[in-house]
Amino acid sequence: MTDLYRLLPEEMEQLVIDMGYPRYRADQILLPLYYKFPKDLSEIKQLPKDMREKLIDAGYTIGSAKEIHRVVSDDGDTTKLLLNLTDETPVETVLIQYPSSNINGHPRSTICVSTQIGCAMGCVFCATGQMGFEKNIKAEEIVAQVIHFADILQQRGEHVTNLVFMGMGEPMANYDEMIRAVRILTHDRGFGIGQRNITISTIGVMSGIDKLAEENLQVGLAISLHAPNNELRKKLVPTAGPNSVEEIVEASRRYYKKTGRRVTFEYALMKGINDSPEIAAELASLLQGNGTHVNLIPINPTAGDFIRPTQDSVLEFERILSSAGVNCTVRVEKGTEISAACGQLRTDLIG
Ligand code: SAH
Ligand code: SF4
Repeated sequence: MTDLYRLLPEEMEQLVIDMGYPRYRADQILLPLYYKFPKDLSEIKQLPKDMREKLIDAGYTIGSAKEIHRVVSDDGDTTKLLLNLTDETPVETVLIQYPSSNINGHPRSTICVSTQIGCAMGCVFCATGQMGFEKNIKAEEIVAQVIHFADILQQRGEHVTNLVFMGMGEPMANYDEMIRAVRILTHDRGFGIGQRNITISTIGVMSGIDKLAEENLQVGLAISLHAPNNELRKKLVPTAGPNSVEEIVEASRRYYKKTGRRVTFEYALMKGINDSPEIAAELASLLQGNGTHVNLIPINPTAGDFIRPTQDSVLEFERILSSAGVNCTVRVEKGTEISAACGQLRTDLIG
């Protein structure tokens, strides 16, 4: 069985030609796939019946995600879905809307996709990390998460404006499937979202960062740093292993040099652990002159006993970075009450 959402437009074209049909038939599959979101090949009426039957006989399907649970935040801006993938594995996908930031009269609508079920990196403050690693998600299943929300949004006259790879899992640890999904989603004959509207977040897998820089894509990169020195970082990210913070910063410079896109460092602030003024100063000197942006994320509650710092100490941390010339923002958290925020996604506690 091959899911048609797995194929790049060029591959779709080759498939159609190999089956003995003219090239234009590929667009008659691609257009409905990415604009009408059919659940089944029989819904693609533009194709001749014999062609649909041949595709089915050859094992081609349209694998859509099935919604098994939906939670919406009180303000209506965050929607968390539990989606069953083709093999019935449940995965969490989140939509975050920002009604105040309008793009041509539409709210910014960001989909946060998962790339793995669980995660092997074991970060101590992250709910997904605490699940352990279960499996990689296939490219078509990453695409299906986006398509499912695109369908919901289309029915409201809205559309997906941004995509972040910040759901469950480490994208660089599932590199080939992740990048295939990115290519399909950004292809102008595929889903067609702008490369610049995508951000891939990594815990700092250096080989992945360097590979991504060579892809000739304009996607944004976020690196989850969480500590300015190796001793503290190893406590928070036990599998940080061979990559020192200095090497990670170096990799971010290479990414910027190659792509022209500035890297964002994510920093989850935990009270009494990595939020002191001294640590802020250490972080400032690590990143100074680097042209990067720091995104401070006051920790979200998970099963671990990490505590969010007070507003005052978050602001003080921000002030120290800013006054050292390090560009910095505090992330406006959305969806914490429905456990849809960063680091709160886990699917092993269902049922
Ligand atoms: N594995 C990738 C992408 C998924 S995690 C990564 O780690 O970057 C997405 C973001 O959520 C990361 O910045 C991660 O550090 C952050 N995060 C994890 N647990 C969190 C928590 N409990 N509160 C706030 N942010 C958290
Ligand atoms: Fe994995 Fe990212 Fe969570 Fe770390 S923070 S365990 S890398 S998902």
